[in-house]
Amino acid sequence: MTSGRQRPVRAGIWTVLWLVLAGMAVANAQHAPLEGRSLDSENLPPPDLVERLAPDGLLPGGGIGPFVEGSQAWGAVNAGTDASLSGPDWQGPGVIERVWSMPADSLDERVRLTRRASLERGVWNLDSAARAVLLDANSGLEGARAAVGLAPDLPAGRMALAGALWLEAGSIFSAVREAFGSLGAFRRHIEGALWMGGSLLFIFSVALMAGGLLAILVVAGFAAPHAAHDLGDLLPVQMPPFGRAALLGVLVLLAMLLGEGLLGLALGLFAIGVVYGTGRQRIMLTLAVGCIVVGAWPVARYTGAVLEGLPRDPVAESALAASRGFTLASDIVRLEAAGPDDLLAREALARLARRQGNLGASDAMYQKLIKDSPGDVVIMNNAANVRLHLGHMESALDLYQRALEIRESPIVLYNLAQAYGRAFQVDNLTATLARAQRLDGDLVADLTRLQGSQPEGFVVDLPLENSTVWRRVINLDAGERFASELRAFIAPGLLGRSAILTAISFGVVLVGAWVIGNNLRASRWCARCGRRVCPRCDPKVSGGELCDPCNHLFFQPDQTDRELRLQRIEALKEREVRLNKIAVVMSVMVPGMAGVLSRRPVSTLVGALLFAVLAGAVIWSDGAVPDPLIAGAAGSFAFACLATLAGLFYTIVVATSLAARRNQ
Ligand SMILES: [Zn+2]
Ligand SMILES: [Zn+2]
Repeated sequence: MTSGRQRPVRAGIWTVLWLVLAGMAVANAQHAPLEGRSLDSENLPPPDLVERLAPDGLLPGGGIGPFVEGSQAWGAVNAGTDASLSGPDWQGPGVIERVWSMPADSLDERVRLTRRASLERGVWNLDSAARAVLLDANSGLEGARAAVGLAPDLPAGRMALAGALWLEAGSIFSAVREAFGSLGAFRRHIEGALWMGGSLLFIFSVALMAGGLLAILVVAGFAAPHAAHDLGDLLPVQMPPFGRAALLGVLVLLAMLLGEGLLGLALGLFAIGVVYGTGRQRIMLTLAVGCIVVGAWPVARYTGAVLEGLPRDPVAESALAASRGFTLASDIVRLEAAGPDDLLAREALARLARRQGNLGASDAMYQKLIKDSPGDVVIMNNAANVRLHLGHMESALDLYQRALEIRESPIVLYNLAQAYGRAFQVDNLTATLARAQRLDGDLVADLTRLQGSQPEGFVVDLPLENSTVWRRVINLDAGERFASELRAFIAPGLLGRSAILTAISFGVVLVGAWVIGNNLRASRWCARCGRRVCPRCDPKVSGGELCDPCNHLFFQPDQTDRELRLQRIEALKEREVRLNKIAVVMSVMVPGMAGVLSRRPVSTLVGALLFAVLAGAVIWSDGAVPDPLIAGAAGSFAFACLATLAGLFYTIVVATSLAARRNQ
């Protein structure tokens, strides 16, 4: 712990970092053209720092003046700014930032005050401030705790706290719990959820395609020598083994050479696999094709929809920025340009107006919103908070109660209790607070701690709901462009154009190969010595498992010299031991091989898919697209967990297959 005297200096560093980060975000921001007006950089306001940060930015100097008197200044922040301003004034100073930059007794106190100011304005995650604290290399455990306090749902912050708990506090158990907590944070952080969900879907999409192809390849690879031999037997001229293999190769590669890519190759291999496969293998091969189709069409499409959802919807992006307490001038322009039909934009503007202290403007916007989207608990609660600040007690109580009829929310109950407190209805206050505590005691305790010794006017705005944003930005049609680009890697040709065409092509091949397979007297390996047994080249051999010499050796022992017979049996035993060793190595080295060698088709497909997921999680351990400063180390940790899990199950599949092979 550092002494209290250093605090203001540290806060100064973080404020500078915050400003720098905000500037970087502007530099990186993509200005997508909106209908009817372009948001090119020339059309934006001049890029000086104050306006880049507006409306939540710090004033370059002098603006902090009235707020330097510690906790007393807090009252001024609440009462003064909220009441004195009227009419939209987007360029005003941000209250949250001013609270942050005020001197405080300790970092903890600074975080508490900032958190209180954020929650009042519906900013449940002050990401930019948390990032600024984390970027300071000296912040350590204390800084990590502060970052989590400012933005509890920011996965990068939770992971940094886990790291600090491990390294500085040495409490491994808490560190592990916090690390897994960072995975849960992805679900609550909508941009994080979109990034993580999109990346996972991307890995699954690629793994389904790669795993399906791999399973078909391994099965077909085993049957290929027989296929080459039998194909040669069908020709009127005798061909050497090399010629037979070349002929089969040309047939298999035909679709690929015609421009159908890996999916074309899979079509040829699938035919071989079905001709030579057992019933269960044929079912597995069909499932493998199903995996490829599912991975290349619906999953790829959903991946595209999730990954490109936010970038395609700049208004939603700006609304989210507003809900993180970090709004740029360009965000305001976008939100205002979105028009009266865009409820999300209007809600964001109402939030921003309230945050700027323009209570009258905010109230007017909220009242219209209540009419246009009836039954929205978030809007009703936030509108009620504005009404309460304006002193319209009856109207505020009515709105809270209407919101509670729709959904029992501990936050709305807490706000209602605060309103009762303000109206001196002590019995109602106690009863409502008890109701809130029953729903979520921890949350109410947190809010009570934040309100501290100044409960006056502390009501909490609800944040933007993740489900609202998710429903809005996920557009499956928009994902198709991404899906077709992803598909082009394995299916650049005709087959890649439609899932139906691919399914029909494989269906036709399946039926044809099934009929051929059932009528073909296929060649095979002798079960003892591995010599080829072919019913056409070697008509003496009947349908048994063994070749002619092995039949003599094992079933007519009197026809062979005893000494010679023992020698040959010994050689065969040695061969079997050698083959077993090779089988173990192959099972471990080649994904899907264990299932083929143990004649467990399901293990082939599952093993191939698990291996593909494992490889995908390792290759894309930083996500499918760059981390938007949200995941941090938590992203790599999530993919490492996925890789470990896939690796564990893969090992189980290989081990059980090897055990089954030994027992055969
Ligand atoms: Zn044999
Ligand atoms: Zn033959």
